[in-house]
Amino acid sequence: MYNKLSKNILVVEDSVMFTRILKRSIESVDGFKVITVESFGALKQLLSEKKYQFFASLLDVNLPDAPNGEVIDFVLAHNIPSIIFTGKLDESFRKKIYTKGIVDYVLKEGPANIEYVVSLLSQLKRNSNIDVLVVDDSISVRSYIKHLLVIYQFTVFEAVDGVDALEKVKRNSNISLVLTDFNMPNMDGLALTKQLRRQYSSQQMAIIGMSAFGNNQLSAHFLKLGGSDFITKPFLEEEFFCRINQNMELLEHIKQLKFLATRDFLTGLFNRRYFFDVGNNIVSGYKKKGLKLGIALLDIDHFKKVNDNYGHDAGDLVLCQLGKRLIDNFEVDDLSSSIVARYGGEEFCFLLVAKTHSEIEASLSALRQSIEDDKYVLKEGFELKITASIGLFTGESEDLKVALSIADKALYQAKASGRNQVVVLDI
Ligand code: GH3
Ligand code: MG
Ligand code: MG
Repeated sequence: MYNKLSKNILVVEDSVMFTRILKRSIESVDGFKVITVESFGALKQLLSEKKYQFFASLLDVNLPDAPNGEVIDFVLAHNIPSIIFTGKLDESFRKKIYTKGIVDYVLKEGPANIEYVVSLLSQLKRNSNIDVLVVDDSISVRSYIKHLLVIYQFTVFEAVDGVDALEKVKRNSNISLVLTDFNMPNMDGLALTKQLRRQYSSQQMAIIGMSAFGNNQLSAHFLKLGGSDFITKPFLEEEFFCRINQNMELLEHIKQLKFLATRDFLTGLFNRRYFFDVGNNIVSGYKKKGLKLGIALLDIDHFKKVNDNYGHDAGDLVLCQLGKRLIDNFEVDDLSSSIVARYGGEEFCFLLVAKTHSEIEASLSALRQSIEDDKYVLKEGFELKITASIGLFTGESEDLKVALSIADKALYQAKASGRNQVVVLDI
């Protein structure tokens, strides 16, 4: 889901103790690496070396050699999104730092604030994978909102009215957040929301309306049409980002739940339920595309012995490694052509669609061979080998259950005739 490349976080802070706690907390998040400097002088040196690319920075505004926030301008001039640490906060200081284009400020108070910093950085990381569409007929409003969103690492697209927005969404299916004005020529925000909701549920796309103060009726109407939330203009940056964050967090949770519901916990492969959900669709449509179908079941040979001889954990390890091989060999982005899943226990099921039956048979024969060749390293210096039997059905079928029961017969024959082989039935 996330970019696996590690993201460097720059910390400019003179308290060694505080830096240590920060570093530990931030690096507990997968993919973050902290690089620290203790003074403005060291910061200048570090950035002049150009050794690192920084994803974000945390800046202490009170350093011995830069007591008045001098580091802020310096770091921002290097285009590094910045979060400010401050001991105190008054309105004029808040305004001043926001005008500069910082991400947020954090009071140096205690553990809760460190948690806040970590969650803020995680949000930025998540945002860097999110496409947002800003819809407003006023160019100045669009630019202002875009400017804010870019600081928060979103990728921003713009549209001048509802019609333009629908076109942009059609062209970029990655857009998962739409921020829209209400009053616009051609198609207003309400009509746009209505149209978008026909295609994208609130679980797929957040739509946030932006209305001028005093337009309560309009906002209520917007929510009834499926709007996710609304922001009253003019707003404080903090409120703007809190609302966006809450909405994106919700989408993220739904995505995670959906992901977990489709996967087997141990191996990461799809689960049996998902195999049937997707498989039934493929089975009913493959013929029209002029393709051939193969349904297979794979069962590890004498797997009970692995558990008995080496323990259940070793058995789990073997299942995981085999799961990886199956994902590598068979899991493609295009779910309309092939799907592999954990059927249960040490059994795996396949639905394969290809131009010819022999192509399907060949891919499973190759898989059987590679399982025989693979080594399973249980602990250092100790490896194990396994084999598997495969039953393959290659006839015509529009019923996944029926096809699977024939594959099961083939698997039984493979076991009965000595295991470690592929048996094909095409009845
Ligand atoms: P055969 O060649 O006939 O398939 O023999 P087998 O031993 O593989 O088959 P059997 O059905 O007798 O045993 C399957 C074993 O798989 C028994 C069960 O404990 C083990 N098993 C099933 N699920 C898991 C799991 O998630 N983890 C582990 N470690 N073992 C599992
Ligand atoms: Mg079995
Ligand atoms: Mg078995």
